[in-house]
Amino acid sequence: MSGKAGNGAEALPKDTVVAVVGAGTMGSGIAQVAAVAGHPVLLFDSFAGAAERGRQAIAANLARMVAKGSLDEAGRGAILDRIRTGDKLEALAGAGLVVEAIIEDLTAKRALFTALENVVSADCILATNTSSISIESIGAPLSRPERLAGLHFFNPAPLMALVEIVRGRATDPAVADRLLATAAGWGKVPVLARSTPGFIVNRVARPFYAEALRVLAEGAATPAALDAVMRGCGGFRMGPCELMDLIGHDVNYAVTRSVWDAFHKDPRFQPSLVQRELVEAGWLGRKSGRGFYDHRPGAAAADPGFAPAASVPLPASVTVAGSLGFAASLLDRIRAAGIAVEETAGPGLLRLGTVTLAPTDGRLATERAAESGGDLVLFDWALDWAKAGTIAIAPARQTSAAATAVAVRLFQALGMSVALIDDVPGLIAARTVAMLVNEAADALNQGVADGPAIDLAMTRGVNYPVGPLAWGDRVGPALVLRTLDNLARTYGEDRYRASPLLRRCALAGVALLNEKDS
Ligand code: NAD
Repeated sequence: MSGKAGNGAEALPKDTVVAVVGAGTMGSGIAQVAAVAGHPVLLFDSFAGAAERGRQAIAANLARMVAKGSLDEAGRGAILDRIRTGDKLEALAGAGLVVEAIIEDLTAKRALFTALENVVSADCILATNTSSISIESIGAPLSRPERLAGLHFFNPAPLMALVEIVRGRATDPAVADRLLATAAGWGKVPVLARSTPGFIVNRVARPFYAEALRVLAEGAATPAALDAVMRGCGGFRMGPCELMDLIGHDVNYAVTRSVWDAFHKDPRFQPSLVQRELVEAGWLGRKSGRGFYDHRPGAAAADPGFAPAASVPLPASVTVAGSLGFAASLLDRIRAAGIAVEETAGPGLLRLGTVTLAPTDGRLATERAAESGGDLVLFDWALDWAKAGTIAIAPARQTSAAATAVAVRLFQALGMSVALIDDVPGLIAARTVAMLVNEAADALNQGVADGPAIDLAMTRGVNYPVGPLAWGDRVGPALVLRTLDNLARTYGEDRYRASPLLRRCALAGVALLNEKDS
C-alpha cells in the first residue's frame, strides 16, 4: 500500500509503533483504529488500571464487530495481540507516533509532551487529539515544536470518518503531510486545518445550534417544529434540538463557550441563555432524561404541531412574478400537483390571487408587507425543492388568517407538512444555512483550510447533506449576503456581519467554494 496522500507524503509504515497516551473514550478508540490498520499499538495511561480498561473496551468493540459479521475471530485476536498496555512513559521509547488523548488541560498536555521529548526518538511524530487548545500553546515549551501537530478524531473514533490534521505555526508541513497520508491509510477522511479556535468543524457548526437557540429564545417555534423543518426542509439528518439533546447540553454549551472565549467573545459565537438555563437546571438531554425533549421512559413523543389541513379551495393557478432564483424548481412541483403556473415580470414572488408568497431574505414578513401592501407569507429555504417534505412559513403581522390558509393549502397540495411559525427574520433553515455559509466563508477567508476541505469536514464530520460553501453557491452568494445583511440590520447585532469573502463573491458574482484557489 503506497499510502500516498497529503502532497505525496508516505504514510507511516505499518510496523511503526503507535503509542496512545490517555486510554479513555478517545484514546481507546484511536488505539483501536491504529491496531485495526495493522500497527503495533502501545496504550498508555497514568492512572493505574486505566490502560487495561481501555484495552477491554476495545475488546468489547471488536466482539460486537464479530457478532455483526464485520470481523472474524482470528482478526479480532490479531488486532488485540497488537495492543499492549503500559503505565511507564519509558515504554514509549520505540514509538514512531505518539497520539495524546489525555484530559483537556494545557498544563497537563505541556507536561506530558515535555516529558515525552526526553523519551522518544528524534524522528517520532507527536500528535494531540485536543478539541480546543491551540497547537501553538501545547508546543510552546517544546524544544522541537515542529514535530507536533493536531490529530483531531471525532467521537466515536472507530466510526467517525473525519480526522482534522491541525497545523500550528511551528508545525513542519512534512509532519502534517505524513499524518494526512497515515490517517488516509487508516481509512479515515483527513482534512488539513490551521490551528484556530474550533479548527474547522467545531467552528463552522456553531450556527447550526446557535440559530435554533435564537429562534427558540424568541418563542417563534417549538423544538419539535424546528427539528422537523431542519430535517424535512433543510435536509439535515437530525434537527439541532434533538442533536443537542444527544450531545448533551453541558458538552455543547462548553464547546460554544470555549470557541467564544477563544475568539475574544466575538458576538458571532455568543452562547445562548436558553442553553445555559437547561445546563443550570440539569436538563442535559438524553443522558439526564430531559432536555428540549422528555426522554424519560414512557414519555410521549413531541408533536411538531403542523398546520391542520386547510379547508380553503386550492387555486387553479399561481403566478410567478420574476425569477424565484434557487427556489425556481418549486414551480415544477406546483405544476406536477396540477396547478397552472403563469409567468410575469416582477421581483421574484408567487401570487395566489391577492396572497403573495416569497422565499425569505432575512427581512421580517411584516416589513416587506408594509412596503408592498397586501397579504404576504414568507417561506423557508429547502435544500431540495423536489423532495422537501416540510416547510416553515411565516405570515406578516398584517396578513389575514384567510390568506395564511391559502399559503398553507398550496404547500399541503404539494405534499408538504407546514410549520406555521412566527414572523422571525430568516425563518429557520434560511437563517441557519446563511450563517453556516458565512462561517465557512470566513474560515476560508482566514486560511483555516481550503474550500473543499471545509466542505468535506462538514459533510463527513457532522453529516451535513451538502458542504456549506457548495450550499452557498447553490442558493447564490448574493442571496446569502442579502439575508445576512437583513438579519444584521433587523437585529442590529454584529453577530450577523458578513464575511468579506462572501461579500466579495456576491459582488463579483463568483462561486465561494474555490475562491481562494482562483
Ligand atoms: P477521558 O476522560 O475519557 O480520557 C482521558 C484519559 O486520560 C483517562 O483515562 C485519564 O486517566 C488519562 N489521563 C489523564 N491525565 C493523564 C496523563 N497526564 N497522562 C496519561 N494519562 C492521563 O477523555 P476523552 O473524552 O477521551 O478526551 C481526551 C482528549 O480528546 C481531550 O483532549 C478531549 O478534548 C479530546 N476529544 C474528546 C472528544 C470527545 O467527544 N470525548 C472528541 C474529540 C477530542
